[in-house]
Amino acid sequence: MKLLEEKILNEGKVLEGGILKVDGFLNHRLDVALISELGADIAREFATSGATLILTVESSGISIACAAGEKLHLPVLVAKKHRSLNISDGVYTAPVFSFTHKVENNVVVSKEYLTAAERVLIVDDFLASGNAALGLLSLIEQAGAKAVGFVAAIEKSEQGGRALIEGKGVKVYSLARIKEMRVGDIKFE
Ligand code: 5GP
Repeated sequence: MKLLEEKILNEGKVLEGGILKVDGFLNHRLDVALISELGADIAREFATSGATLILTVESSGISIACAAGEKLHLPVLVAKKHRSLNISDGVYTAPVFSFTHKVENNVVVSKEYLTAAERVLIVDDFLASGNAALGLLSLIEQAGAKAVGFVAAIEKSEQGGRALIEGKGVKVYSLARIKEMRVGDIKFE
């Protein structure tokens, strides 16, 4: 998506360790008009997917998931992040290693809101190594629900997450796909 690529080129900052900082428009200060356009693009791509629910994980994916949910007229389920394993019976949980914070969290959703009947579209801000995606896919599998796609606003191809998700038979769609990035230099696919 041209609009997002331009925004990344103009305002994104590449940090050491393969991290792209997009705090100024995507996950600290939010460019709401841009995020609304991301939602519209996702809705066009998945209009006929039969999705019944959008799943994201707190916190950076929430705004994009809500924009897509509004356009697709779907509710958004936000997986919570917990450090402790002391979690109640009424939830599904999966471990996720955080690419940015280098810690393991458990992602958790209530069994009440993720049921076998759901066809789930996952939406997140970034796709890097695919750990977050695999954790969310595990929640969907545990519920006996079906994943109809995985959307990332920004994919960093070099970090290899796409193959893991596609290996599970799930379609991957990203709005900006970064082929390679170095400090001061970002190239898109
Ligand atoms: P993965 O699990 O695919 O390695 O990483 C995805 C998660 O890590 C996303 O939910 C996102 O919050 C975070 N993340 C991964 N790469 C980046 C990055 O370059 N910049 C930022 N801001 N977050 C990232």
